[in-house]
Parts: sequence; structure tokens; C-alpha cells
Amino acid sequence: MSEKIHLTSFLESELEDFVQSVGEPKYRSKQIFKALHERRLRDFEAVTDLPKAFRKHLSDHATASTLTVESRYISEDGTRRFLMKTHDGYPVETVYLPTENRDTICFSSQSGCALKCDFCLTAKLGLLRNLTAGEIVEQIIIVLNDVYGAGEPTPHGTNLVAMGAGEPFANFENLIKSLEIMSNEDGLFIVPNRVTVSTVGIVPKIYEFARLENRPHLAISLSAPNDELRNRLMPVNKRWNIDELFTAAKTFELSLRRGERFTFEYVLLGGVNDSPAHAEELADKINEYGLERVKINLIAHNAAEGLDYHPPGADRVAEFKRTLEDRGISAYVRTPRGRDIYAACGQLAAKNSPNLFQIGRTVEI
Ligand code: SF4
Repeated sequence: MSEKIHLTSFLESELEDFVQSVGEPKYRSKQIFKALHERRLRDFEAVTDLPKAFRKHLSDHATASTLTVESRYISEDGTRRFLMKTHDGYPVETVYLPTENRDTICFSSQSGCALKCDFCLTAKLGLLRNLTAGEIVEQIIIVLNDVYGAGEPTPHGTNLVAMGAGEPFANFENLIKSLEIMSNEDGLFIVPNRVTVSTVGIVPKIYEFARLENRPHLAISLSAPNDELRNRLMPVNKRWNIDELFTAAKTFELSLRRGERFTFEYVLLGGVNDSPAHAEELADKINEYGLERVKINLIAHNAAEGLDYHPPGADRVAEFKRTLEDRGISAYVRTPRGRDIYAACGQLAAKNSPNLFQIGRTVEI
């Protein structure tokens, strides 16, 4: 199976080359693209508008489905957490978050992660491998099919967040390609404006991202207002420190479209980074760099076995928010979702992935 060509990884233009290379007319590429992405079919035999012989050829030489769902959990709040596996056995986690009139899918860009953020369970896996563009797209297709059924329309718009396992900017090319595939109006038609990419601060890629035409929104996971604390919580800071990160953020801010803002994500860890003094330091830093179009998403840490942190109390979160707002910074408290099924931020890789902790490798950046 692994030798077969993964057609879900192909842009429509690449599919055109593919169908012509096997002697089929160019228009077949649109039929295939629509079948895989708009109708979300995962088996060529179901694409009955293709000739039978061509369907057989596709089934013999190509594939549309390389990920398998190992398990699925549904939270009391409707959140669904999917544990999937690549064809070569690597874990992939994806989370579906329903809200009124909107579906949000939090997808993974890598299997495991190299970046060792101290408050994140995925870090314990190490980096297993980058996901291909097709594996990223398949996560979305699998989730939508689970919720609505293959071939069925999705009644709501779909928002995507690249906030699952992995650092999206460490798999930049595949990420951008997957987003291009998914934005095609003959397919999933999820336009960049509905997508948010979250990075821990791979600074050169923030500049590259800022230059992209038609790019998604950006969130930067910050979680500390100074180098000393951030070095401890997020070792990536030793490579690109807070000043380098804020300089990049300022450049990014200058590339924002009308009405657009970007986000700093701040995971609040009880007794570690959640004091009013930390909030003041953060506000000072934002004001020092003249960042005017940033909002802060405050995320109370989600307790998980294997992590030494605990969530801050609600009053502590409220005080942090108020301190920022008093200094003119927009701050929002993100409601935790799917905690009971370990789908919340920092909890991916928890429960039912016990064997994964032994196969990770850690890569220095
Ligand atoms: S928070 Fe994100 S970047 Fe950091 S270790 Fe976890 S998955 Fe990797």
C-alpha cells in the first residue's frame, strides 16, 4: 500500500499531470479532485462517474486513504478526539470542536513533536515524522465524514486550526500545500481566512509566512513574558529569544489585512506564569514593541498525567485578564473543550497512546 501514489496529496494541477501520464483525458483530474475533496470519497470504486477500467487502475496503483482511525472519543460537550495512524504506523491526533453554526477542526502537522515544551504531553513523544500534505488533508476529510457522512454536505462553515501535535512551521511546505489543496473551490473550499496556524516561534518562518499572499491567520504560542521563564517552559526560546520573536511579530503585524489581528496564545500554569506581575511584564513588552493589533488568548492549563503543572484558579485567570486589559491589551479566556477525553490543549498524546512514548526521537533545532 505504501508504494501506491497518494492522490489526496495532489494539487488539482498535479492530478492533471497524473491522469495524462496514464493516458486519460485532462478532465478526469477534476472528476477525481471533486470526488476526493468535495464529496470526500475514500475509495475509487465509489467514484462511479469514472470508467470501470480506470477505477480499477486507480485502485491498483493509487490510494485516497492512508490514515486509519484507531479510536475515537466523544466528549460530553460534543468534542470528538480521533487517534489515527499513518500507513507506516505513526500516530496522528485530530480534534473536532462543534460550536453553534461552525465546525472547528484542530489538526496535526507532525506525528509527535521535537520542541519539548514543558507543559505539553506531545513533547514526550519526540518527533516521529512530518505528515505529508495528503495526511493533513485526510484528517479533515475523516473528521467531516465522521460527523456528516461521506458525500454529504457540511451545513456549517469549517474553521481549521493547526494546533494539534507538532510545530506547523517545522513542516512548512507540506502545511502550505495542504492548505492550498483544501482552499480549492472544487474541493473542501476552506479558504485561508478560515484557517489559523499556531507556531511556538520559528522566527524565520514567521517572516516567510508574512510574505505569503492569501495566507491564513497567525497565532504565536508565547506563555511567558521573559526569556528566563520562557527558556524553561519552551526551549525553542533559546534558539529565538523573546526580542527576536517580538521583532518578527511586529513585522508580521505590518502585513495584516484590514481588520485582521494576530494572536498570542498564553497557557496559564498555576503558580508558574500566572501572576499579575507576569501580566504586567507581558503588557509592557507588547507596548514596548508597539504591537497594536494583537489579542491574547488565555488558556488555563489542562491537567494531564505525566505533567507537573496544575491549572490556575478562575480568580487568578480573571485577574491576569484584567491586568492586561487595564493596560489596553485585548485578552480573552478560551473555554476548555473536551477535557474529559484528553482532547484539550497540551493533553494530546495522553491516554491510549502509552506505547508511543518509547518510539519518539528528539531532534535539536
Ligand atoms: S506545544 Fe506544540 S510545539 Fe510545543 S511540544 Fe507541544 S506540540 Fe510541540
